[in-house]
Formats: sequence, structure tokens, C-alpha cells
Amino acid sequence: MPDAMSAIMPTVFVSHGVPTLSLDEGPARTFLLALGCHLPRPRAILCVSAHWDKAIPAATGTPRPETIHDFFGFPEALYQLHYPAPGSPELAARAMVLLRDAGIEGVVDPLRGVDHGAWVPLRLVYPDAKVPVVQLSVQSRLDARHHLALGRALRPLRAEGVLILGSGGATHNLGDFAGQPADTPPYDYARTFDDWLHDTILDGREADLLDYPQRGPQARRNHPTAEHFLPLFVALGAATHDDEPRALYRGIEYGMLSMAAYGWFPPTTGAPERKP
Ligand code: ZN
Repeated sequence: MPDAMSAIMPTVFVSHGVPTLSLDEGPARTFLLALGCHLPRPRAILCVSAHWDKAIPAATGTPRPETIHDFFGFPEALYQLHYPAPGSPELAARAMVLLRDAGIEGVVDPLRGVDHGAWVPLRLVYPDAKVPVVQLSVQSRLDARHHLALGRALRPLRAEGVLILGSGGATHNLGDFAGQPADTPPYDYARTFDDWLHDTILDGREADLLDYPQRGPQARRNHPTAEHFLPLFVALGAATHDDEPRALYRGIEYGMLSMAAYGWFPPTTGAPERKP
């Protein structure tokens, strides 16, 4: 296991699916449970969640972030789950300095906790809840290029032992959820976009990704709103052209909800050997 203080961390995007990912067995949950063992142990995590949408980038600054149960109508057991990882006011302040150096205005929120976009996957990836977590908001009124610039600005954190983790959804049309089971075969429009995303990421075609509303097949149907796709661009922006893009997980649940995960790894960093 590489030393967290000397290893350049990979940058990662995961799809967090539905909150019951915390409870229900399934292949995406199994993948997330194993992911932490395949990444260098980070000093801290900066998690960009689709579920915190602010006009300008905001970072959680509390040393003890509460677990926010920002969902309704789910089993009571989900509301009993907590993720007690500490915060890191130091990392929040450092992120703001990096954004300011890049000409991006940001703000530290001293009160806000960690929402399910962050804690549902983190509870699986780092169940010991010992690694400090700072959450960063998205700006859904701004485009992919803005979020790529956020990632670029935050890139130096990778050499400081910080895992930059985007958490959203590779496809995310919840309007097409009508009670179908999780193992429903993928709908054509979701599978086509998911395949395009896979090929585009692994080929390093950044311009195509940035223009996904025009170039991604049925992009609007897969992302009627952008907030679940935007964390991917922060993770991508934190990568360099030397990093190796890898598909860490692929799978579509409920017919339309891709659980795909991608990582950008320095050439010497180990990662799961998975051929999707
Ligand atoms: Zn979500």
C-alpha cells in the first residue's frame, strides 16, 4: 500500500444510485465495498456531491459534519445510518485558496454536513470512517467546462494525499422509474449513452465529453438535469494527460440508472484489474 503522503492520489468518479445501495446486496455495492482496498489510503477526501447545488463552489468547513438524510419515503433503517467521519477545516480552507488562485470564487460553509451523495458511497468505500471528508458543491446552472476548471484548480491536492471523488450518476433519468426491479435489463437509450461515455473516457476525448449535451447519444434523456453528471467533470479536470483512465465498474440498474465508476490513475498506481 503506497504511503498516503508520498503517493499522488488517483481521481475517481462513482455513481451512487439510490440510497438503498446502503442496504441491498448487489454488484455495484460489492464493487464499492472493495474499492477502498484498491486505492492508496488518502489523508483526506474531497467529495463532490450531486446533491449539494450552490451558485458558487461551497465546501463544508465543520470539523464534525452531521450525516444528512436528504431523501424521503425510504425504509426506516436508512435513516438510522450515520457516517461519523471527521471533517477537515484545513482542507476546506486549502481548497478555497486553490480556487481563488484559479480565479474562481468559493465559500466555506461552517455548518453544513455530508449528504447521501457523499456518505452512501463513502460508507461502503471507507467503512471505518476515519478519513476526514470535505464535501464540495456543484453549480448546476454552470456547464461542464466550469466543473472541469474546478477540478484543474484542485488538482494539486492529489499530491497532498487528498482523494478527489466525484459522486453522481453516469446516467440519471429518475423520471423513467416506475417501480421496476433493480435487475431490469438496460434500456437502449441508457446503454447507448453508457457505452459512449465509456469509450470517450477511455479514449481521452475530452472535447467530446465537454460537449456531451450535443455529442452524447440521447444526452438529455439520460440527464434531464445536469447535476448528477457534473461531478464527473471535476474528477476529470483533476486528472492529467499522463494519468491512465480506467473503467472501475460498469452496470445499469432499474433499466436506466448506470452505476459506472471511472478512475484516472498515475502510471505507477495500482487499481482494480477489471475488464468491463
Ligand atoms: Zn443522487
